[in-house]
Amino acid sequence: MVTSNVDGQFQKAGFPEDRILEVHGSIHHLQCTAPCSLNIWSNRESIPVDTDTMRARSIPRCMSCKGVARPNILMFGDYGWISARTDRQEGRFEEFLDSARLKPMVVIEMGAGTAIPTIRHLSEHLLKERRHPCPHKSP
Ligand SMILES: [Zn+2]
Repeated sequence: MVTSNVDGQFQKAGFPEDRILEVHGSIHHLQCTAPCSLNIWSNRESIPVDTDTMRARSIPRCMSCKGVARPNILMFGDYGWISARTDRQEGRFEEFLDSARLKPMVVIEMGAGTAIPTIRHLSEHLLKERRHPCPHKSP
């Protein structure tokens, strides 16, 4: 399962954690805003809100430097995102692709648009690779 969603819905729906690639990270994990380290940890925060001011009474803190923590998700122009978790997921996805290299492939693309075409580009790349798996056979 490859998704650009960051909401953890595939885990919630019961897909095994080790078969999911979240290309833009996950809101269910936190990292330091600085970042002071490459640590990524589970987001177990609940943020109390002052309903009179609609302001957070506390914000998540980095487990190392106690600075502000943030969701481990890739934003536009984001140079502070720690990609280690997604990198590991990509490694498992590559292993899956290698194991299925000679088998027929079906790509089911749901809700993948052209505004942010990350998923669509991956699907098209996989299908092109299947059509021309060996560079010597490419037209
Ligand atoms: Zn920190």
